[in-house]
Amino acid sequence: MDEPLFRRLTIIGIGLIGSSIARKVRAERLAQEIAIADRNPAALSEAAELGLGDFYSEHASEAATGADIVVSCVPVGAAGNVAQEIAPVLLPDTLVSDTGSVKASVIRQMQPLLPYPARLVPAHPIAGTENSGPSAGFADLFENRWCILTPTRETDLRALDRVAELWRGLGADIETMTAEHHDLVLAITSHLPHLIAYNIVGTADDLEEVTQSEVIKFSAGGFRDFTRLAASDPTMWRDVFLHNRDAVIEALGRFSEDLAALQRAIRWGDGDMLYETFTRTRAIRRNIIDAGQEIAAPDFGRRGPGSGSN
Ligand code: NAP
Repeated sequence: MDEPLFRRLTIIGIGLIGSSIARKVRAERLAQEIAIADRNPAALSEAAELGLGDFYSEHASEAATGADIVVSCVPVGAAGNVAQEIAPVLLPDTLVSDTGSVKASVIRQMQPLLPYPARLVPAHPIAGTENSGPSAGFADLFENRWCILTPTRETDLRALDRVAELWRGLGADIETMTAEHHDLVLAITSHLPHLIAYNIVGTADDLEEVTQSEVIKFSAGGFRDFTRLAASDPTMWRDVFLHNRDAVIEALGRFSEDLAALQRAIRWGDGDMLYETFTRTRAIRRNIIDAGQEIAAPDFGRRGPGSGSN
């Protein structure tokens, strides 16, 4: 049998992402030992009941002691706290990675606090669901999904290779880019769609007082698909918008201009403009299906737990 990639792998934050990593690491024997830390005692005991690790602690520093690799899976606003807690126990060879949905801010928070910044390899798996907590995870979450690595100028190549190996072992395909580029791309592909979903569901909720439950009764007409995104974790998404502010505001500005153009076309009966826009967008969905990132099922390609937010 192959040697595991790591002796001790530490996961800080055992929610949807952390618990999915733990399950796959165990299933593929990617580490000899899994250490888990979470500040939330209920999450920690749930993880223990599920048998996700070999060692559990409410303190990140205890779980990170003696680790070959520490993967922080907490909301992006907590990245600095994690770095501060683990810094005193890191060894020169300990790799530090994360899974945060925003990258430049995580680097700004973590890098100055780490004793060996060359070992920092930030990562973002483009996979997730609207559910949270240790029970929400599953081993195949990352299968055939992208994981974006955003090394800093100081990250050494060996550290980058090792973290890429971990993510390949978890089933993901690897793409590497700068943190700034990542944040721009994700602002339009992930952050803005979530913001629109939160907004449209909020608006419908306000209207519901007028229409009395018809919003829920007839929700299949498009609204239901927004409600899935709008059910995503409030803490995670609050942090995403606070920490990717500039890119989201830029994307939102363009979106508002395009929406105004559609509004104008409807007002003036410009059917050609509407038809051309909808034809162009239909082709984009086909491209996404062809790229294997979605399936063409009539339920908007929703294939159960793995297809959702990130
Ligand atoms: P989650 O299910 O909400 O779990 C996060 C866990 O981390 C919670 O148990 C939380 O405890 C704990 N935590 C928070 N601050 C902590 C700290 N300072 N020290 C130790 N534990 C702490 O979150 P998730 O959905 O797995 O997301 C984790 C990270 O992955 C986020 O950065 C997110 O942006 C990223 N991500 C998420 C998705 C997705 O679809 N969900 C996809 C890709 C990447 P409390 O309950 O006490 O806060």
